Amino acid sequence: MFDAHAHYDDEQFDPDRDAILQSVHKSGVKYIVNAADSLGSCYKTLKLAEDYPFVYAAVGVHPHNAKDFSPAALDDISSFCSCDKTVAVGEIGLDYHYDLSPRDIQKKVFETQIELADIKSLPIVIHERDALKDTLDIIKANKHKITTALWHCFSQSQEVLADVMRLDGFYISLGGVVTFKNAVKAVGVAKAVPIDRLLLETDCPYLTPVPHRGERNDSSFIRHTAAKIAELRGMDFDELCAITTENAKRFYNIKD
Ligand SMILES: [Zn+2]
Repeated sequence: MFDAHAHYDDEQFDPDRDAILQSVHKSGVKYIVNAADSLGSCYKTLKLAEDYPFVYAAVGVHPHNAKDFSPAALDDISSFCSCDKTVAVGEIGLDYHYDLSPRDIQKKVFETQIELADIKSLPIVIHERDALKDTLDIIKANKHKITTALWHCFSQSQEVLADVMRLDGFYISLGGVVTFKNAVKAVGVAKAVPIDRLLLETDCPYLTPVPHRGERNDSSFIRHTAAKIAELRGMDFDELCAITTENAKRFYNIKD
C-alpha cells in the first residue's frame, strides 16, 4: 500500500516516531509521502525522507502558515525541490475554515507555490477547506502551470469531482473520512472517481478511520480505508491496493 499523504513530522509522533515508521512499513505500507506544512516542517520532512528509504517528501507551506511565507522561505523551498527524495510541492492551497492566515495572503502564497512547482517540474498537492470557489478559480487561472495535481482529502460533491476530473493530470486522494458514518459525500466520491485517478492517504496523525476513531492515526490504518472503498466499488481489496499504489507511484514519479 501507498500512503499518499501523512505528517510524521507532527509532534504527536515525538514519543515513538521511529518505532511507528518501522512497524507501518512492516505492516505492508511500502511508500509514504510526508507532506510539509511550514518551513520548519520541510526540514523535518526531508530528514525523514533521508532516514527512511520508503518515505518521500512534499515540500511547501500550508495555507494556515501563509502569513509566515517570505522571499527567503521561497528560496529555501526552491532549493528543497532539488533534493533527491522530493516528489511534490505541498501541501498548498486555501483554508477558509480556520482563516489562520488572511485570505489575500493565502491566495498569493498558493499561486507563488504553483509557479515554483512549474519551474521545478514537480506535481502539486492541494489542500482545500471551505474555499472551493477561490481554489477552483486559482487552479483554472493557472492551469497552464499545473501539469499534475493531487487534491488531497477531497471533501466536495460528485458534481465538483466531475469538474475537477475534466482537468488533465488531476488526481484525488481519500482517507479515513470515507469510513465515517455520516460520510455521504465521501462515499459518493469514492464510488464515482475514475479508478486510475484515485490515491489513498491517511493524513495521519489526523482523520483516523473507523474502527480506530479517537486514537492517533498512522499509516497501518490505511487498510480500513482501502477495505471500505473496495467494498463500495465491489472490488477486490488487493486489486484496489495494487491499482492505487501504481497510481501514486505514477503521480509522484517514483520508479522503484
Ligand atoms: Zn495534510
